Amino acid sequence: MQKILILGGGFGGLAAANELRSNLPDVSITVVDKKDYFMMDLVKLWIIKGVRTFEKSKKPLHNIAKKGIEFVNESVTGIDFAAKKVKTTTKELSYDYLIVALGVEFAPDKISGLPENGYVLYDLEHGPKIREKITQMKSGKLGFVITGMPYKCPPAPFEAALIIGSMLKEQGVRDNIEIDFYSPAPITLPAAGPDVSNQLLQMLQKENIRFHGNKKIILIGKNSIQFEDDSSAPFDVLIAIPPHKAPKVVYESGLAQEGGYIPVKRDCKTAFDSVYAIGDVTTMMVTGTIAVPKAGIFAEGEGIAVARDIISKIRQKENSNIFDGKGGCFVEMGNTAGYVYVDMFASPNPITRLDEPAPEHMIEKENFEQERIAKWL
Ligand SMILES: Cc1cc2nc3c(=O)[nH]c(=O)nc-3n(C[C@H](O)[C@H](O)[C@H](O)COP(=O)(O)OP(=O)(O)OC[C@H]3O[C@@H](n4cnc5c(N)ncnc54)[C@H](O)[C@@H]3O)c2cc1C
Repeated sequence: MQKILILGGGFGGLAAANELRSNLPDVSITVVDKKDYFMMDLVKLWIIKGVRTFEKSKKPLHNIAKKGIEFVNESVTGIDFAAKKVKTTTKELSYDYLIVALGVEFAPDKISGLPENGYVLYDLEHGPKIREKITQMKSGKLGFVITGMPYKCPPAPFEAALIIGSMLKEQGVRDNIEIDFYSPAPITLPAAGPDVSNQLLQMLQKENIRFHGNKKIILIGKNSIQFEDDSSAPFDVLIAIPPHKAPKVVYESGLAQEGGYIPVKRDCKTAFDSVYAIGDVTTMMVTGTIAVPKAGIFAEGEGIAVARDIISKIRQKENSNIFDGKGGCFVEMGNTAGYVYVDMFASPNPITRLDEPAPEHMIEKENFEQERIAKWL
């Protein structure tokens, strides 16, 4: 029996596992993850908003066993490509096909002063603390800072600023609080291009959120951010998007250079035989400077494309299965949401579009989560 091993039971890994299982009832499929649950990252914003809890949102990864997909709840510690074997904390697992879907890790320590002086937006444990701080805030300066590129879900930090802005409005204190947003990029969403970036900028300006581009952070002091251009900015409360990095096993195995991600093209094949890489752990360039953004919708699309490629190989069919580059992300604000649509590999240039905020997009965002959980777990 052919063995397919999937490292990472997140967005990409679960999409691939389900596509494989639906089409290949007679192969062995195993998913390895150090966590024993799946929760979509977008819920982190709903925890801050106070409309969800972690306990209500996480789903056990062991549920995949019901579909005949084995789940190994251990850390991946090594990969031997020559022997086609993966080491986990206590096991050695062999494979015929390997899909690496290990996502990214956060490295707040890389920014001096961040762990002591700021909240980390993407840190699950910081969500309730951010909520508490925001609900207590009466006046002052609230800062958002993107500490490095690339980062997960390019619109998410802006969604956080818009959501928190509307929370402060509901609390009746918005007029007493200044919100400033600092990014190392010159525009809000570089991967989506200048037009969409400008639309998002206008959405921020309408909510009195000031965007400051080209602001590369050096360090965070007690109440002040220091930038590379020698300027500084004061804050009372700071919410940061931390630097990201690939998990250690990715460098140690030689899949990527230290500090980088796994380079792939649209077929998601790595330099190693029968080994694919998908999702946030990869870099897939679209143009010389623009890469496919790190987003669940793309991890899912890549997972399905890779699964179809493996299905074709096992069925000995000569199909070309490459990632189509199409997808989109919501931009939530208050009780409505905009929607950024992208077609990354459209010819001659990527197509991007930002649909105006509407309550329907908020319902679509909720369905986006529920439909996938129902399908995958
Ligand atoms: C606040 C926020 C909001 C977002 N909103 C959206 C949105 O609206 N739409 C959207 O499309 N995307 C959104 N994203 C981005 C999306 O969550 C990620 O891009 C997506 O999860 C990437 O999928 P992945 O499979 O590559 O990695 P992940 O989903 O992160 O999965 C990786 C898995 O690998 C496991 N792992 C890592 N290292 C090891 C190891 N050594 N051993 C074993 N297991 C390991 C991890 O535990 C994890 O479960 C958002 C992100 C954030 C932070």
